[in-house]
Amino acid sequence: MSTATTHEFQTETQKLLDIVINSLYTERDVFVRELISNAADALEKFRHESLTRNQEDLFDAHVPLEIIIDLDEDKKQITITDTGIGMSKDELISNLGTIAHSGSNSFLAELAEAARKDVSLIGQFGVGFYAAFMAGSKVRVQSRSWDGSEGYEWVSDGTGSFEISECPGLHRGTKIIVSLKEGCEDYAKKYKVESVVKQYSSFVPFPIKLDGETINTVQALWARNRSEITDEEYLEFYKFIANTSDDPTYRLHFSTDAPLAINALLFVPKENFEIMGFGRVSPGVNLYCQKILIDQDSETILPEWLRFLKGVVDSEDLPLNISRQQLQDSALVAKIRRVITKRFLKHLNEEAKKDEESYLKFWETFGIYLKEGVTSDFEYRSELGKLLRFESSKSKNATPIGLAEYLLRMNPDQEEIYYINGPSREAIEAGPYVEMFKKKDVEILYTTEPIDDFVLSHLAEFDGKKFVSADRADLSLDDKGDVPESEKEKLDQGLAETESKDLISWLKETLKEKVADVSKSARLVDSPAMIVNPDSYMTSSMERVMAAGRLEKGMLGEISKKNLEINTDSDLICKLAELMKSDESFAVEIAMQIYDNAMIQAGLTVDPLEMVERNYRILHKAVN
Ligand code: ADP
Ligand code: MG
Repeated sequence: MSTATTHEFQTETQKLLDIVINSLYTERDVFVRELISNAADALEKFRHESLTRNQEDLFDAHVPLEIIIDLDEDKKQITITDTGIGMSKDELISNLGTIAHSGSNSFLAELAEAARKDVSLIGQFGVGFYAAFMAGSKVRVQSRSWDGSEGYEWVSDGTGSFEISECPGLHRGTKIIVSLKEGCEDYAKKYKVESVVKQYSSFVPFPIKLDGETINTVQALWARNRSEITDEEYLEFYKFIANTSDDPTYRLHFSTDAPLAINALLFVPKENFEIMGFGRVSPGVNLYCQKILIDQDSETILPEWLRFLKGVVDSEDLPLNISRQQLQDSALVAKIRRVITKRFLKHLNEEAKKDEESYLKFWETFGIYLKEGVTSDFEYRSELGKLLRFESSKSKNATPIGLAEYLLRMNPDQEEIYYINGPSREAIEAGPYVEMFKKKDVEILYTTEPIDDFVLSHLAEFDGKKFVSADRADLSLDDKGDVPESEKEKLDQGLAETESKDLISWLKETLKEKVADVSKSARLVDSPAMIVNPDSYMTSSMERVMAAGRLEKGMLGEISKKNLEINTDSDLICKLAELMKSDESFAVEIAMQIYDNAMIQAGLTVDPLEMVERNYRILHKAVN
């Protein structure tokens, strides 16, 4: 005798269902797409099983692979049936009672946030099977696994719990019967369902039959000849695989024959959901072998930092029955990955050459992934170097430039590429580090993101020229550029040699708790002092990032002692040398304040309380 058992939904699932049921009215079409995509997945999985097992082990082996949609206007019902892999009783309970997504809690938080901000964003999340409740007041799922075990039925109205009972006499696969809610009756009408399927599912690689009639043309677009594919077809395909209504930013379709047979169709989407705050993007490129899907949203076919790409890679060199683990370990997959990655980076460079303005838009949205590529993947450094963009002291209208452009403008005797990190163009230009560069007319890159200095330090060089941060202690611009004669005279003014030496040794003593060394600067023009790094591998920005990381882990966020360079031509420093003799205790206050100011200009932290109190003491003295 068959008895029904009742099961509670997992808490997260119920929360998801509440969001789906209550806030998604505008995007209802999505449920058809989600159910068809599950049906297609189930068919792909069965096809995969059938390739790797004996036919006798497969239940209903002869049943054709297809998706059947039946509509019943009177009963207000839509039924979607597939002849895929099916689900056993246990699978029904776990797959349709919990959320498949990894990290379901953060996923939910993001989803709820998206629902609050803009309902149309939700389509991007793929709420999956549960989308059935967007249009259904009751959903029944009848399923029988490919292994031939007994069939079961799952029934729920989406509130709190679902029921499971035996369901004899089923064929292999899954039948989903959705009883439509009030206001959703259109999904039992042929014109409506046909238009939704055409819009979202025309590239499903199995026949979709609607009331007996096949409504999609099954094709593998990527396997066709490029010259025969129209832009519209590409666009439609992109929208299908990326689950979006946006246009892609870039498209690359290419094939190779030797040494590997690869056919790849890749798209760069329009938006970057990761920088929009929706959490980490998961890979979106499917791996096929001779038009048969072997790894959906493959983690291995592209490097992790290209996870923003959507598309298809097909290689007939791969064995059909390869497992995920084998894919990960496969030297062949690694080779394919290299070929595709290089080809894609080359394509980006070509696009940039064709239209730099559009490339800059891409860079703004997706540049962060390329930077991640530089810091995580040694292999593509030279290709990635060409694609980087930074603002510079000579970029017009603050438009970022490429490194190749920097090289073109470089002075003939210049051996290094200079850069300096700061929170913004304005902040950098107001600071001490660019003074001598301006004066000598040497171009300097502005790195304004925390990751930038790591990127350049990983890149190490571009076209044989080393990257050098302008906050390095041993930096010298002596032999570079020209200082006008009139300016040279000014350089000869200031403190005399002995006074300067006295002041420096006094400063070393006074600031010995704070600095590693004090020296006379050869490159400051207007500012009295600046902080420089004795360590040539670390910039202040890198240290700041790493110190913040340590703090987050509960460790000390201290940074190493820096060097202080003073400008002995500056009025303030000259006066300090006098003050040191006449009023030493006040001179100490001034020295401390100069040090703090220089630290702040280097983007490093000082003790704010101590500084404010000292500052008031100095102001007090000034007004008296
Ligand atoms: P996802 O498709 O992202 O895994 P879904 O919520 O759409 O998430 O589906 C959850 C799970 O339920 C699927 O991973 C699959 O295991 C199972 N499932 C859903 N629909 C079907 C179906 N038609 N046939 C077989 N299994 C299915
Ligand atoms: Mg799904």
